[in-house]
Amino acid sequence: MNLIDAIRTIPDYPKPGILFRDITTLLGDPRAFRQSIDELVQPYAGLKLDKVAGIEARGFIIGGAVAHQLSAGFVPIRKKGKLPHDTVSIAYSLEYGVDQMEIHADAILKGEKVVLVDDLIATGGTATAAAQLLRNLGADVVAACFIVDLPDLGGADRLRAMNVPVTTLVEFAGH
Ligand code: AMP
Repeated sequence: MNLIDAIRTIPDYPKPGILFRDITTLLGDPRAFRQSIDELVQPYAGLKLDKVAGIEARGFIIGGAVAHQLSAGFVPIRKKGKLPHDTVSIAYSLEYGVDQMEIHADAILKGEKVVLVDDLIATGGTATAAAQLLRNLGADVVAACFIVDLPDLGGADRLRAMNVPVTTLVEFAGH
């Protein structure tokens, strides 16, 4: 099936002018969900990966399934203040102002091979900060993958410029 047909677009959410690419319809469709995970893990078949890192919140759903399929561990990257043990954090830019994301300081051992996962990459602000956070812990960020790419916003290219190979399944033109 064509995965793009399983993704719903909500105009003007969360604010006027934004086309929100809603993957809850894809997650709720058994065939689309399975096909998405199969396609996401395909490039890593046969590789020995240690961890999958998922970005809160939709990256947890997809990352958990990817980690299970790859027999890797799962590591959450969360918004500030949500993780209970010692954390390492990184600041990143949002459209207005800055925010911070955190990871448990002991979640990754130096040199571990990690794949970064989220539902969608737009400007790449979130994913490039997450990749840097993983590297700050000594991770070998071997790849990043997303269901949706908004290529006109340049995020996937920004990650590639950090020497992180990127795969995406579906592209939408514009923003
Ligand atoms: P960015 O940091 O600009 O790459 O934004 C990526 C993050 O924001 C991801 O966690 C996405 O879930 C969310 N996001 C950004 N733009 C959209 C959009 N048009 N539709 C759905 N989610 C989006």
